[in-house]
Amino acid sequence: MKALVLENARTPVIKDVPVPEIGTDDLLIRVKAAGICGTDVHIYEGEYFSEFPLIPGHEFSGVVEQVGKNVRAFMPGDRVTADPNIGCGKCYFCQINQQNQCEQLEAVGVTRNGAFAEYIAVPEHKAFHIGDLSFQDAALIEPLACVVYGLQQTPIPIGADVLIFGAGPIGLMLMQMLKHAGAARVVIVEGRENRRALANTLGAHHVVAVDGTERDMLKSLSQTGFDVVVDATGIPKVVEQMTIYARNRGILLYYGVCPKNDTIRISPYEIFRRDLKIYGAFALCNTFAPAIRFLQNQVVNVTSLLSHTFALEEFEEALATMRSGNSMKVQLQPD
Ligand SMILES: [Zn+2]
Ligand SMILES: [Zn+2]
Repeated sequence: MKALVLENARTPVIKDVPVPEIGTDDLLIRVKAAGICGTDVHIYEGEYFSEFPLIPGHEFSGVVEQVGKNVRAFMPGDRVTADPNIGCGKCYFCQINQQNQCEQLEAVGVTRNGAFAEYIAVPEHKAFHIGDLSFQDAALIEPLACVVYGLQQTPIPIGADVLIFGAGPIGLMLMQMLKHAGAARVVIVEGRENRRALANTLGAHHVVAVDGTERDMLKSLSQTGFDVVVDATGIPKVVEQMTIYARNRGILLYYGVCPKNDTIRISPYEIFRRDLKIYGAFALCNTFAPAIRFLQNQVVNVTSLLSHTFALEEFEEALATMRSGNSMKVQLQPD
């Protein structure tokens, strides 16, 4: 089969590799759509814990091609996606159902071969039916499941006044979910015009540009600050400023992935004096089923988040498009 293999950091090669062999409890899936995300960029750059050679790709959908003999819930021809994170099942965190903190977490497209290929093999217990969702939408279930998990970790008060930094694909999923979760208002700050326009279309109550006046603008929108402040940029300087915009007793959600070794300065006294709470959320944990329900019931629109589609052979162009910032979600179509 055709696959995009990262032979090493920054060394992608399209090549012919054997179709993955499946075990008795696995599915072989013909990949129809596979999203590129920030994690893939980190893997590409060699800044992640992945080892090479590796076929990346952890946000995907496709059609079941073949099933192992113990597989019960799937048949060839079924339209599916899969949760890429595979816990060891044995460690303390797996035992208490917190598999995203598994001490030996495996992830499709990160520690084992992923979806930037014609076929991928996954264990049956990680696969989900997608019904009549489009393959493009279904390849966004994984990032939506991460957003669902993040909000499950964060107690959002009904009627909250919410501020989000960053209107990329994740920021706009957070925005839609927070509205549904009971926020009375969601304000979003974004530097790029195309992303601000999309934030407006998808229902942000206020969209604020980054032009040097944003601090005054945000103060005028809420004198006493916001109940919930979310970072979806992964930029440490932005995260460092979040306390300024939080109301006393407010919640800060550090959602965007900052570079691993960066640090920020915050005042512990301020956290104490102002009753602030800081939350983090890593990846997802058993949240594929609710993410699929949110899409099937049209609570969240992910269709508008897809801006570009490329063939497998165009991976480097796809990556460049993604890094240019003039895109939203970029997907590959191996088929
Ligand atoms: Zn991802
Ligand atoms: Zn484990």
